[in-house]
Amino acid sequence: MRKTVDPTPFIVKGMLSERKIHCWIGEILVRTKGEMDVIDITDEVRRRIEEFEYGLVNVFVEGSTAAITTMEYEEGLVKDLGDALERLAPSDADYKHHLRWNDDNGRSHVRAAMLGPSITVPIRRYQLVLGRWQQIVLVELDTRPRDRRVIVTVMGK
Ligand code: ZN
Repeated sequence: MRKTVDPTPFIVKGMLSERKIHCWIGEILVRTKGEMDVIDITDEVRRRIEEFEYGLVNVFVEGSTAAITTMEYEEGLVKDLGDALERLAPSDADYKHHLRWNDDNGRSHVRAAMLGPSITVPIRRYQLVLGRWQQIVLVELDTRPRDRRVIVTVMGK
């Protein structure tokens, strides 16, 4: 006898609710000013999840020299993050990437790989589940201004 596979049910508080999961994909376009331009995109993401009561939103930036993370978005911490990245992947270090493409952004790639290109945030009662001082930020790590495309994928109901 062949087994039929049930579609993955959506679970809310341990109960099975609707079997249908809705998916919505959109984007946020951001023009950055170059290295260590950190942009708060929380409100942009919030606007795109408004119709979902429960679920998850994934926020992903295309490209290997930018990152998405969460942080308390304030000037001091933006500077601290830049300083920490400078210690981890210093500007004046020797990067093999420069030899390969005659690029100057070896540190940008390394820093982006460490921070990661995406985050996933839960949605509960039409709201992003974020701490009071937790914003979703795009971190530009390239050595020049870039046009960034941030893909927002919402799944839920
Ligand atoms: Zn490069």
